[in-house]
Amino acid sequence: MFTTKVLRQAKTLKPWSTITSNHLLDFSIKRASGSYYILKDNSKIVDFSSGLMVTNLGHNNKYINKKMKKFIDKGLLYSPPSILIDEREKLSQRLIENSPIKNGKVFYTNGGADANESSIYFARNNKKNKGNRILRFEKSFHGGSSYISSFLGGDKRRNQKLNHFNLDLQIDNILPNPSMIDNGKKSLEIIENILNKNSDDICAVLIEGSSGTGGIYTYPENYLNQLDILFKKHNILVIVDEVMSGFGRTGKVFAIEHSNLKPDMITMAKGLTNGNIPMGGVIISEELCNNYKDDIVWNGLTYSGHPLACVTANACLDLYLKNDKEVIRNCDNLGKILQTKLKIYKEKYPEIIKDVRGIGLLSCIEFKDEYLKLVIKKLYEKRINTFSNDNNLFISPPLNIDEKLFLETMDKIEEILIEINT
Ligand code: PLP
Repeated sequence: MFTTKVLRQAKTLKPWSTITSNHLLDFSIKRASGSYYILKDNSKIVDFSSGLMVTNLGHNNKYINKKMKKFIDKGLLYSPPSILIDEREKLSQRLIENSPIKNGKVFYTNGGADANESSIYFARNNKKNKGNRILRFEKSFHGGSSYISSFLGGDKRRNQKLNHFNLDLQIDNILPNPSMIDNGKKSLEIIENILNKNSDDICAVLIEGSSGTGGIYTYPENYLNQLDILFKKHNILVIVDEVMSGFGRTGKVFAIEHSNLKPDMITMAKGLTNGNIPMGGVIISEELCNNYKDDIVWNGLTYSGHPLACVTANACLDLYLKNDKEVIRNCDNLGKILQTKLKIYKEKYPEIIKDVRGIGLLSCIEFKDEYLKLVIKKLYEKRINTFSNDNNLFISPPLNIDEKLFLETMDKIEEILIEINT
């Protein structure tokens, strides 16, 4: 544990933290490998959340590293985004082919927040729109940059940005998340009411492919199909944020493929490059791209579609798609085991667990009262690190985690539940 004095003197200002917020791994990580962080003393800590749900293919993946090293030596380490390059074109082609959009183009960004901001630009710029309001769910997260964080639901980070930038937050645009208890019926009724009352000035809805940081509020079966019908009926574009849920994390390349919903845009980042280099992007339907036959895209970034990021993403795609998507099928299998275990934990330890939610390897345990802090401390003692937020402990290891390590780590989590429960 680092002292307050050491933390105060550190020269890096950490996001979402105070200067002295103590993360147990601060400064200690020397390197990482597969599902482990390796500390300066060479001891290992299991990374049970793939960092921030990023390293879907494991840390320090040798195949990706090799492709990156080879490309560096070729000598194209920067190319303006307006100039076409082979690796970028190859990546765009593959992303479109493997997405439910099938026909369109890709716009690249540096990460997830700017991918979402860009998607809002493309949605609002659509010539067919009547209005420019954007709907989103209450419990959702779409990024931390100032504009997109104003799209958060009931989250204090949003109010901070509201006060500071005086942004137009359009409070009435926040939709209720569906509940598993009524199969999303109430949520659908409320959304239908909103649309029936006035959908004229709504141009798009921004939803996560599957809920992430907001608390993993998964969609009930058939909910998205019904939502799709509603939005299509009212000519509302659907933007699906797959920044966290994409690239195999839920057992499909994109989480939205668990439904028949047809997105107009898909935003992505994180697993796109496995965190080896920052990159985000938006897959945009052909129809929306047609807005730019004569008009200029007034949106762009210096590093959009950076050559090394494209090579990295292509290497990641090689691995996601290899052997008939073996790594994604592995996630699906482990995800099923995980969901069963979580339900058992909820039944066995109702004093401390409020709820469990998840799909594939994007899951969480929601604790009651103050138990989460204690669980995190005990996890560290057992050499496990994972992401937590509010009262939720995330379980989202790399998709290719070794099954034995996965089961052992789950057993250690259960040992902690037993200890606390008694
Ligand atoms: N969208 C979702 C669903 C996310 O989970 C995140 C980050 O956690 C973002 C967008 C923002 O991505 P980035 O931090 O790369 O800007």
